[in-house]
Amino acid sequence: MERLVNNVLFKKIMVVVAHPDDEVLGCGGSISRWVGEGAEVRVLVLSDGLSNERTSCERESKRRAFQNAIDCLGAKVCDILDLPDQKFEIVNFQEIVQKIKKYIVAFSPDVIVTHWAGDLNRDHRIVNEAIHLVCRPLVSNDLKCLMTMYTASSSEFGDHFSRSSFDANLFVSLSKENLSKKFEALNFYAEEVSRMQNLRNKHYLRALATVAGGRVGRELAESFRIEWARV
Ligand SMILES: [Zn+2]
Repeated sequence: MERLVNNVLFKKIMVVVAHPDDEVLGCGGSISRWVGEGAEVRVLVLSDGLSNERTSCERESKRRAFQNAIDCLGAKVCDILDLPDQKFEIVNFQEIVQKIKKYIVAFSPDVIVTHWAGDLNRDHRIVNEAIHLVCRPLVSNDLKCLMTMYTASSSEFGDHFSRSSFDANLFVSLSKENLSKKFEALNFYAEEVSRMQNLRNKHYLRALATVAGGRVGRELAESFRIEWARV
């Protein structure tokens, strides 16, 4: 299965997340690896992760943090959209679908990575639903694989929504350098890390990577679920 994502077949990978920092928490190490192996990775984020009360200066700073994190991982920013943070449910669902679809059609990725349907965060679950709708395996698109990722601080609580825990079926093994890149990128989100210190600190993330790696006989890994794939 690993061969599927080591760029033998997949050259264009698109990561679609709800908030800046989700991409690092969920697949920062894998992005670093994929880019190192020659893939083009673009990241689309649907919200800047700030409530309406925040100033334009704070927004600018958050956007800069996102850009810096993506640069650090060697990926490209697809765009930062303007959905209201933690309130995706007040936006018309079709509007979200159409916004995402525009970027997917323009890039035509081989692989899409997004949130898992059982995440505690509601914005994440809405993104998952929208992506499933946009990415149906039709003859009209060339997508080869839809994957969901384990996002620390949200995927731990899946039993509430999916009645099952995150059942990983793809482990992307990481080098120490890949994990270091993840941590380096995470440094740009210092505020988020301190807000949920117990689930976003490096000790916890390293432990997750160690357990995921141990499950497939590797030192370090990140966990994913292949929702569907065609090759
Ligand atoms: Zn999030």
